[in-house]
Amino acid sequence: MRWAWAEVDLDAITHNVGVVRERATPARVWAVVKADAYGHGAVPVAKAALAGGADGLCVALVQEGSELRRAGIDAPILVLSEQPPDELGELVADGLTATVYTHDGIDALAIAVDGGIDHPVHLKIDTGMHRVGAQPADAVALADSIALHPQLALGGVFTHLAMADEPPAAANALQLRRFDEVLDALRGAGHRPALVHAANSAAALGIADARRDLVRLGIAMYGIEPGPGVSDLCSDLRPALSLRARVSFVKRVAAGEAISYGLRHTFTTNTLVATVPIGYADGVPRRLFGAGGDVLIHGRRLPIVGVVTMDQLMVDCGDLAVRVGDEVVLIGAQVGAAGTASVPAEEWAARLGTIGYEIVCGIGKRIERRHISSAPR
Ligand SMILES: *Cc1c(COP(=O)(O)O)cnc(C)c1O
Repeated sequence: MRWAWAEVDLDAITHNVGVVRERATPARVWAVVKADAYGHGAVPVAKAALAGGADGLCVALVQEGSELRRAGIDAPILVLSEQPPDELGELVADGLTATVYTHDGIDALAIAVDGGIDHPVHLKIDTGMHRVGAQPADAVALADSIALHPQLALGGVFTHLAMADEPPAAANALQLRRFDEVLDALRGAGHRPALVHAANSAAALGIADARRDLVRLGIAMYGIEPGPGVSDLCSDLRPALSLRARVSFVKRVAAGEAISYGLRHTFTTNTLVATVPIGYADGVPRRLFGAGGDVLIHGRRLPIVGVVTMDQLMVDCGDLAVRVGDEVVLIGAQVGAAGTASVPAEEWAARLGTIGYEIVCGIGKRIERRHISSAPR
């Protein structure tokens, strides 16, 4: 067992799904498990989310949906954007719900479905984020085209908000107004999609009008806040992932000595320095040192000293009696003599000028995910 790993608390996933289900009801929850469940492990997280009451799953790629099917998951799985034509055979064979927003995308999917009928598709509308989606004016023609293909059935219509993590922003109301206009036009043309959806985590928590039939729950399911603008709505969430390691080496270093590549940190007193066998190849950014990153040992916050290297980093332990094998928490909580201390993923994000999403998605594949749960699964 390597002395660096991530622990993923599946009970926290289940709990967080429950929190958002309650907040968003009567809207249902579909769990977003793209990018290996934001680095948490797609299959166990998907199962925990379904156990917690999620009705469906969302992924970014066909291969991500196929991985879930191979694990025996038979819930609906929505692929969130159009996929390359040569992926569509697998999408259809694995019974994944397709997203479409172009005539080419619809025609290619119809060919891939071949002899089958009523393969479910969701029509994505670009109401203002301008990433992917049909222009509102094209929605009816696209829905008509879906209806003309017996191979396809319009199961849903959705959009995505660019500023959901700032609920009062005028852009949210504008996007939802455009979305409602599209929905009216579709109904006027005789289309009755069963599932209308617009909310990611932030909107599910903070924008009641975005909840509709289901919410696409990503980051909040992992217990990480979508952004500072909705942090007061996240107090009931529990972080699922912690990043842990063990001290691999300790030594005394004299005042006046410096440390790590570039010798960018010079010690002002004699001190004890611990080496931790995790580095930027594992997703601990090299610049976390300059940004003031801390770790926890014996429940105490201790500073990273010197630049993080590819496989190892160093920690100034001061007068703490740290020994080889002692547990180090890089992200998460640790109990010590003085109580519980924690370094949330949001703290790294704030120091590094990014968001919690990028921190957890950046944890490398060399780090084993150990899934823990008190529930039988
Ligand atoms: C990733 C994604 C989500 C989930 O967003 P969170 O902010 O993580 O909840 C929802 N919808 C779409 C279209 C996405 O790409």
